[in-house]
Amino acid sequence: MRWNQQSTLGPAVGAETSPKTSSPTSTPGKGSDASPAELFGLKGLVRSVRTPEFAGVTFHEVLAKSALNKVPAASSMPFTWTINPYRGCSHACVYCFARNTHRYLDLDSGEDFDRQVIVKVNTPEVLAAEVAKPKWSRELVALGTNTDPYQRAEGRYSLMPGIITVLAEHGTPMSVLTKGTLLRRDLPLLARAKEDVDVEISMSIAVYDDTLQQTIEPGTPTTTARLATVKAAANLGFRVTVFLMPVMPKLTDSMEHLDTALRAIKEAGASRVVYGALHLRPGAREWFFTWLEREYPELLPRYRRMYAKSSYASKEYRAWLSRRINPLIDKYDLRGSGDDDYPKTKRGDRTKSPALNQTQAASLTPPPQEALF
Ligand code: SF4
Repeated sequence: MRWNQQSTLGPAVGAETSPKTSSPTSTPGKGSDASPAELFGLKGLVRSVRTPEFAGVTFHEVLAKSALNKVPAASSMPFTWTINPYRGCSHACVYCFARNTHRYLDLDSGEDFDRQVIVKVNTPEVLAAEVAKPKWSRELVALGTNTDPYQRAEGRYSLMPGIITVLAEHGTPMSVLTKGTLLRRDLPLLARAKEDVDVEISMSIAVYDDTLQQTIEPGTPTTTARLATVKAAANLGFRVTVFLMPVMPKLTDSMEHLDTALRAIKEAGASRVVYGALHLRPGAREWFFTWLEREYPELLPRYRRMYAKSSYASKEYRAWLSRRINPLIDKYDLRGSGDDDYPKTKRGDRTKSPALNQTQAASLTPPPQEALF
């Protein structure tokens, strides 16, 4: 693909993003017909681009003012800093709970989230300036907490190598969570970074049924390809965590599915598994129910009941799932242990972070999935 084969849609319009009032009335999946540059007040927009390689996807290239995001102190997330070089995600997981963030751009949380991707093209340069400041704390930076840093756009923009290099050069530990097999491109770089700083790799693989996987995560690499990526990382000496989430009632919570999943994860060389039941925030919720009605209408009443009052699966379901899955996690020796277990706090002084004891580890139904996928 040559740059002169792409079409440029939007002009430059200013500097950095200013969140707009959300659009609760926008229809999930409706998409947007107007010229993207007219749609939202994306300050810092350099241009909007479509290319034949990414049919149906528009990239909005922006110049960001900052790369590091500070996680609010009240958050239950076990880290303080995140970087998200992309907003929106062409992996298009129906259940994705980052969907609602697109409404701040006056885009919808359905199809626009999958197809209108904001690219912060200067992330490595901005990050370099931020971490060079004497006051930078060198706390762990989490990548992949909101949208996927190895979504397909990364093949075009290659922002991650610069981010990894800058963090490592400034003594900053990092974690990467992705569904993208493009991670393989950067494994040698991450392995070099690991010689200087802690580097944690996690792969999200929730569905071990190819038909279901292709309908509910239509833009993602296959489960087989992701497991192969886990193996490649493990072969380079990484202790890879697999996020077996979301576990979806009556879709992926059978003994057979869970056993197949954990066996495959073990065979791929992962060190540990964390799991969590489906969480349906507003934005994801409407999109998920539309999908469920189309694909599994018989399950719709059950899901509507289960998620009637909360974004979270019921306490009873989560307890049931815990009883079902924990023996399997032990059977395949995928619990992880001691210092390396997840979740542990990465906030503040890491040396003061207590390792989880066995009882705590055994009760891990990982967190109320605040911002992980
Ligand atoms: S769940 Fe992750 S990979 Fe899937 S669409 Fe959301 S950000 Fe992308």
